[in-house]
Amino acid sequence: VTTCSADQHVAVLAFPFATHPGLLLRLARRLATAAPTVTFSFFSTAKSNASLFAVPSPGNIRPCSVSDGIPEGYVFSGKPQEEIGLFLKVAPEELGRCLRAAERDTGRKITYLAGREDEILKFIPGICALQLGDLPAGVLFGDFGSSFSTMLHKMGQSLHRAAAVAINSFEEIDPEITKDLKAKLRKVLNIGPFNLTSPRRSSISDEYGCIPWLDTHQAKSVAYIGFGTVATPPPNELVTLAEALDASGTPFLWSLKDSFKMHLPRGFLERMGRNGKIVPWAPQVQVLAHGSIGVFISHCGWSSVSESIAAGVPVIGRPFFGDQLLDSWMVENEWEFGVRIEGGVFSKTGTMRALEQVLSNERGHHLREQVLLYKELAHKAVGPNGSSTKNFKALLEIITGDSH
Ligand code: UDP
Repeated sequence: VTTCSADQHVAVLAFPFATHPGLLLRLARRLATAAPTVTFSFFSTAKSNASLFAVPSPGNIRPCSVSDGIPEGYVFSGKPQEEIGLFLKVAPEELGRCLRAAERDTGRKITYLAGREDEILKFIPGICALQLGDLPAGVLFGDFGSSFSTMLHKMGQSLHRAAAVAINSFEEIDPEITKDLKAKLRKVLNIGPFNLTSPRRSSISDEYGCIPWLDTHQAKSVAYIGFGTVATPPPNELVTLAEALDASGTPFLWSLKDSFKMHLPRGFLERMGRNGKIVPWAPQVQVLAHGSIGVFISHCGWSSVSESIAAGVPVIGRPFFGDQLLDSWMVENEWEFGVRIEGGVFSKTGTMRALEQVLSNERGHHLREQVLLYKELAHKAVGPNGSSTKNFKALLEIITGDSH
């Protein structure tokens, strides 16, 4: 192996029952002999390692013992696979702990069997260059032992049994994905976007006077900034975002809870004057529909993305977790009505460049054309003969029992 660097560290995780660990160790021995500068940490239970390593192994294979999960004084009842059950219960946490210990003990980061976030994912039709790291954690990387991950996994396994799967989206936004889902599930019913089919009521009140403030600004000149109901950028990014707004002179309306204002740069609130407005809550749907909005700086939660589409506003995405990464990837790469912030976090220059791209130059023109295209498709889908309207009727028939 010519590309091996001297500090490669490979984790080999054995299923410590029957002949499995022995076979895996034979492969590890073969690899370790051929790649003598690479360190192999071999993880199995103490009992399994004791018998496997009774025979000499190459010096670059380190046996690492993980707990077998058998509580002290435990009396086996003789149930089948009792030992396996006990091990699997502790394995996710135990392996995580042992992997970290192996990195610490060797001083080498594990380079294989971990850290797949950069890998390019190819198996979802309609999504061709997505990185694994853009999927929600716990699906193909991350903590598979978490209850959230287990829930997603079980949902995925049972979805094909559902009589119908109703989705907060519309078919035309991605025909290829719609086609693929239809082939895999019994009945796929895109009945959204919900912001158009069943709008929320609470966002209508404008207690902080956003709309009259927007009325005083020029068409497509204002950046609306909002990160949904859960996410807030860390304090250093609040600072860089504020600095970029300051330096670029972009008028902005920012939905930011009062408790975070303390992180803004000194003098920022005074300096912004009539050029900026910060409110603890904005009637987002109405704000986005206002003619003065030129760009939405968003965490790319699904509701925010669909509200941006419905209003025809291009997006600058700063995703944090969950579906936000995938949503912002789609916005930039598939639907092309927005850009993700460079490097994934707000920096002063990156944010200024993104604002410039979206608000003034040619790329902005393309982004606006694209978002208007999807706006039209979305409004058509929820119209009298639109796909979402038809799908809603189909759902109603299933629910009222009229489909038979
Ligand atoms: N929202 C709003 N005003 C605000 C902040 C958020 O009306 O100041 C609404 C927004 O219109 C959207 C929802 O809150 O409907 C946020 O949903 P999204 O899926 O974008 O993000 P989440 O909160 O689930 O992360």
